[in-house]
Amino acid sequence: MALSKAEEREHAEFSNKPLPISGKRGATIIGPTNPSREAENPDTLAPPRGDHGTMANMRWSFADSHMHLEEGGWGRQTTARELPSATEVAGVNMRLTPGGVRELHWHSAAEWAYMLKGRARITAIDQDGQAFQDDVGEGDLWYFPAGIPHSIQGLEPDGCEFLLIFDDGNFSEEATFLLSDWLAHTPKEVLAKNFGVPESAFDRIPEKDLWIFQAPVPGPLAADRVVGAGPAPNTFSHRMLAQEPIRMKGGTVRITDSSLFKASKTIAAALVEIEPGGMRELHWHPNADEWQYYISGQARMTVFAAENNARTFNFQAGDVGSVPFAMGHYIENIGTTILRFLEVFRSDHYADVSLAQWLAFTPYELVRAHLHIDQSVLSKVSTRKTPVVAG
Ligand code: MN
Ligand code: MN
Repeated sequence: MALSKAEEREHAEFSNKPLPISGKRGATIIGPTNPSREAENPDTLAPPRGDHGTMANMRWSFADSHMHLEEGGWGRQTTARELPSATEVAGVNMRLTPGGVRELHWHSAAEWAYMLKGRARITAIDQDGQAFQDDVGEGDLWYFPAGIPHSIQGLEPDGCEFLLIFDDGNFSEEATFLLSDWLAHTPKEVLAKNFGVPESAFDRIPEKDLWIFQAPVPGPLAADRVVGAGPAPNTFSHRMLAQEPIRMKGGTVRITDSSLFKASKTIAAALVEIEPGGMRELHWHPNADEWQYYISGQARMTVFAAENNARTFNFQAGDVGSVPFAMGHYIENIGTTILRFLEVFRSDHYADVSLAQWLAFTPYELVRAHLHIDQSVLSKVSTRKTPVVAG
């Protein structure tokens, strides 16, 4: 349908305002509309021609997640309940004020974390009673195996905000084993017997769980060190951003899996940075679903799901993307700033298969019989064994 003169003027005036029009297909919206939301998702509003079929949703924004507010911080989660296509891992975005504590707790899933901003002190003990404490900052990770008790506390000057990943898509950060919750549900005489002290020692324990609460900012790490039965042999933290990245023309990649961060037995991750115009090349993963967290910039991703099905999604800071097991995809920087995101996998190792390498490393005559492309198309294919960001 051709645009009317008035629509053409409006389109020209708001050239950044996307319309559900692609070539001769589509028309303007004349009914109720949400322009800011449509502008965030131009490839949903006017999908590329190749999009087809009935595909599950693979995008969620933490901005749409319920906020759990407490004195000392907040938490919000993106689980299989918010994003049903992501069943292998769940994510939590959490903020702690200086001194704010995510209380001592444990849970049935393993916890991997990436510090987004600020600093925190983390503590844990392992099953041998060996103690761990560390201070973590932007770009640092931690990993607490399932069942291992731990805590997180914001440090000065402005506390911290981080992303938690759990190796179970149905996990809930509300369903954790909390120190205060357990003690509130244990008879006082049992507590007294357990610690060999009078019942009155427990007169002031909280009557209900704390989850997040405000506490004084802790002193220096050295002064807070407890060795327990000894220092934990497996460090539960890792400096991911400090890793030397793999540098390519279009961007950088840092990969952290159990080969580098020994404790992280069930979560592997890549931190990807893509220059404007660059693209994480067409590929898929032979070992797990992909769960993405967008840190900055603007992206689009088309997911290919076989049987004629493909769908394109847009992403920005605070968004989550999911790619079910083995589905083909690319991630393109469609903005004017660096695109930065995390790829997270429920696996002990990172792995991907590159479309370009597959074709370049297959007998050319066989490829030509399929696609009728010149051999020169495959002449620039990278032989690296790591993920490729095309420039
Ligand atoms: Mn936890
Ligand atoms: Mn991928």
